[in-house]
Amino acid sequence: MEIDNTPGGIPRLGVTILASGSSGNCTIVHYGNQAVMIDAGLSCREMQRRFRQCRCLEGIEIQGILVTHEHTDHISGLRTCSEKLEAPIYATANCARTIRAKDSKIKQMATFAAGGSFDIGPFGITSFSIPHDANDPVAFIITVNEQRIGIATDVGYVSSTVEYRLKACDALVLESNHDINMLAASARPWSLKQRIMGRNGHLSNDSSAQLLEKIIAPNTRKIVLAHLSHECNTQEKALECAGQAIHELRRNDILLTVAQQEVPLETLWLEAGE
Ligand SMILES: [Zn+2]
Ligand SMILES: [Zn+2]
Repeated sequence: MEIDNTPGGIPRLGVTILASGSSGNCTIVHYGNQAVMIDAGLSCREMQRRFRQCRCLEGIEIQGILVTHEHTDHISGLRTCSEKLEAPIYATANCARTIRAKDSKIKQMATFAAGGSFDIGPFGITSFSIPHDANDPVAFIITVNEQRIGIATDVGYVSSTVEYRLKACDALVLESNHDINMLAASARPWSLKQRIMGRNGHLSNDSSAQLLEKIIAPNTRKIVLAHLSHECNTQEKALECAGQAIHELRRNDILLTVAQQEVPLETLWLEAGE
């Protein structure tokens, strides 16, 4: 059975998270048969395997790969994916330099300034700086037909830029990395705990929920909690924390889900005027 991505000639806008977490990150934003990939932290083979699992991605053309930062869980399949898909890579200049130092065989990368905007096909891309222990890391807002999709993981703390940029998205993919108590009680070395909790580490469930209270707007419909720690979080804890924030805003109409490490998450569809 063919999946129709353009019912009645109108392209559908979707977000499909192929993987999320410290073992690999890869998200596809697709509009009809056009798409951009955000991070390529899966091997090309695994990326293609997951692609095939998602029927709605059949026949989709990746027009560019946007890189948030150079940590392995975001770029491990970058070169091979970009070659196989014949898709150009977009990264900040400092990030591109760091990637090239890790992999000299990587082809030309298009660079952009953090905070700047550019278009790839029908996708309006706005990047913004995030606090994280990487070289000029960014998160993205992707806009198609006035629908705003915010994608922000690996965020050390909620800076004013992060809060400002993520306001009033129709759909949000937001890090909810760890439960503070689980992290404190874990067997991880103190230095690693400090790194994760620090201002250039990862966003806790509590910080993520506090941010949601500030950025959810009447048009916000779908929220995916992402980059959950395997050891220091559970889906239940992350959902409970964010769910409480949404409940306090009396926004029980918002769909709240959790992105997975091992399997693609069911596609989120954004319907115009929804
Ligand atoms: Zn990461
Ligand atoms: Zn990272």
